[in-house]
Amino acid sequence: MRDRLPIRREDAMKIVMLGAPGAGKGTQAKRIAEACGIPHISTGDIFRSNIKAGTELGQQAKAFMDQGALVPDEITVGMLMDRIHEADCKDGYVLDGFPRTIPQAESLTEALSRTGEAIDAAIDIEVPDEDIVLRMGGRRACLHCGATYHTCFHPPRLENICDHCGHELVLRDDDKPETVKTRLEVYHAHTYPLIAYYRAAGVLHEVDGTKNMDQVFAEIREIL
Ligand code: AMP
Repeated sequence: MRDRLPIRREDAMKIVMLGAPGAGKGTQAKRIAEACGIPHISTGDIFRSNIKAGTELGQQAKAFMDQGALVPDEITVGMLMDRIHEADCKDGYVLDGFPRTIPQAESLTEALSRTGEAIDAAIDIEVPDEDIVLRMGGRRACLHCGATYHTCFHPPRLENICDHCGHELVLRDDDKPETVKTRLEVYHAHTYPLIAYYRAAGVLHEVDGTKNMDQVFAEIREIL
């Protein structure tokens, strides 16, 4: 029963999700956002909606994303800063997929410190690389409404059809096996060091991401 109760906090809550691609950051970020009543901000989702809308930002990002590479910080940081200064972010937010490099984390720390703010919690969802490869190969996405599924762990009711909008599900280009390998390499080279960065800042919390979604969320609730 307690699990259904919203997480209530007096002050704004600024949360960063860390972990390899496919560790379950998005799923947990959505649940935290809902429980805390704050927005879930996914830089990957913002890029994908820009690609879909055919904006210049989308065109710039697509080439990098399709290869499993990071979109350059010059593009990503400005976009994220604009987003966190929107009105719905006044009580905090959950960042999913940002920061992904030390310079991005430094830009965020610096921008927040100008108004006396800081990240309150960085939640690292730990999953071994072998599990990541298995998980991502089975991922299917609805490009129409953004819903995500997994052929083994979270199948749609009808094979390859979105439960929500009835469109066909696809294996995203960036979930294809060769791209997953590159994304894991990129993660270890550029994003993994953020664990030490937020540990040094005294806000790091590590959770075991191999457990099921509800158990992982229960651990996160304890932390928050
Ligand atoms: P995601 O949905 O978070 O897995 O992101 C999908 C892709 O978007 C990544 O593989 C990157 O190409 C790009 N991307 C998302 N967030 C960032 C970021 N903070 N910095 C650079 N590239 C990003």
